[in-house]
Amino acid sequence: MPEPNLIARNLEAVRARIAEAARAAGREAAEITLIAVSKTQPKAAVEAAMAAGQSVFGENRVQEAAEKFPVAGARLHIIGGLQTNKAEQAVRLADSIDSLDRPRLAEAIARAADRAGRLPDLLVQVNIGDEPQKSGIPAAMADGFICEMRARFPAALKGLMCIPPLGLDPAPFFRRLAAMADAHGLPVRSMGMSGDFPAAIAAGATHIRVGTAIFGAR
Ligand SMILES: *Cc1c(COP(=O)(O)O)cnc(C)c1O
Repeated sequence: MPEPNLIARNLEAVRARIAEAARAAGREAAEITLIAVSKTQPKAAVEAAMAAGQSVFGENRVQEAAEKFPVAGARLHIIGGLQTNKAEQAVRLADSIDSLDRPRLAEAIARAADRAGRLPDLLVQVNIGDEPQKSGIPAAMADGFICEMRARFPAALKGLMCIPPLGLDPAPFFRRLAAMADAHGLPVRSMGMSGDFPAAIAAGATHIRVGTAIFGAR
């Protein structure tokens, strides 16, 4: 695990870059939520980040998330592809599930929410580059799926999430996701990671998901 001091310094540097990207885009840094992606990191790394003022975390595997969370005062986003048989655990543990991408998962989440008596916030993940190996609803099917999810989860559905293709300029993909969120009147656009979050902020990201730049290489 990285030194707690290093995590604190990295967080400070990321916050400064968020402020700079927001300023350059004529936006307020306060509009942008930093999700610290703590996958593969021990709970002590989460606690070190908390001590440095970070309170929102992202995990891509439910099982691993359950080994570290809940942490008092922390918000947890599940950001990775979710199997239907993990939906109930995710619904009980997460404050937000950011990878809703198919009707069967929506069914599983709705059933789990009835049993658990709680429903996290939800984001629809869009496979914005239409990559066969990636999770997310295919871009061509996204409009219909988003309408269905808005009807099914009117209060919980907050916005959209994407991961653009590696090796291409991400900016057009970020702009496309932002336009889709706008078209549906959804306020949240989760986009941008360690390597590309300034471009995502320029394109209107409200949430960025940053792991490596805070916790170091995995
Ligand atoms: C791992 C992960 C991130 C963070 O990636 P970094 O490049 O380490 O910042 C963001 N989003 C998702 C969905 C991830 O799985």
